[in-house]
Amino acid sequence: MLPDMTDRTTALVTGANKGIGYEVAAALAAKGLTVLLGSRDRTRGERAAARLRAAGGDVRPVVLDVTDPATVEAAAATLTRLDVLVNNAGISGPLHGLPSATAAPTVREVFETNVIGVLLVTNTLLPLLRRSPAARIVNVSSGAGSLAHHTDPDHYMSGLPASATYPVSKTALNQLTVQYAKELRKDGILVNAAAPGACATDFTKDLPFPITRTAAEGAAIIVKLATLPPDGPTGCFFDDAGSVPW
Ligand code: NDP
Repeated sequence: MLPDMTDRTTALVTGANKGIGYEVAAALAAKGLTVLLGSRDRTRGERAAARLRAAGGDVRPVVLDVTDPATVEAAAATLTRLDVLVNNAGISGPLHGLPSATAAPTVREVFETNVIGVLLVTNTLLPLLRRSPAARIVNVSSGAGSLAHHTDPDHYMSGLPASATYPVSKTALNQLTVQYAKELRKDGILVNAAAPGACATDFTKDLPFPITRTAAEGAAIIVKLATLPPDGPTGCFFDDAGSVPW
């Protein structure tokens, strides 16, 4: 439970029917929060929420496609309280390749989910978050969004193939995080970006190297930022080890 909240502290996690988002939902429910489990697919969301309820959590499914304003508005209309928003839903697009003219729609699709989706969900839910005594927003970013990683010759990311999709979208998400933090500081809303680290999920299953880190391990930094004390940081980028360079 957040230190400055009493009961029914409520969190919404987008893209929480599986992977890291599901583990974030599980961990927040285990801390006693009411969790709204966002899923673009009704059945997958209901199944995931039922699993977490069976484990004792107060978890309810919410149909929410971050690229579809109608579902975001419908989800918002069902809520009376929101204290924590975890913008977790994300897609990768092709993991390398700079765009030819034909790749532009792919870049647009990735931005639609990873950047515009966060803007849409956050803006729609802001009136509710502003009413919370201590709201937190966590944007699930990636170390791949760090310009510093890609320009540091000693960092493995500088050796990865160039990509116009995923890393660019996460860099944009980082900037969006900073802009929201600036705007919402006066409302006491803490806004941070999290890098969960490479975790074994459907997202990474086609990568040509093994990943042993679990989704639950990746979720830990997101949960920490979602339950920061009121004097916690805002406008920052963290992984398990501490600050991530922008
Ligand atoms: P998964 O592919 O396992 O899960 C992604 C989730 O996002 C799914 O629930 C998926 O729903 C949902 N989603 C995708 N598009 C939309 C949409 N338009 N509206 C609503 N939900 C959507 O990925 P991860 O759990 O691994 O990734 C979660 C987040 O973590 C992403 O933002 C990713 O960029 C980030 N991340 C992941 C890393 C990793 O190594 N796994 C490393 C760094 C960051 P559906 O089941 O319907 O497809």
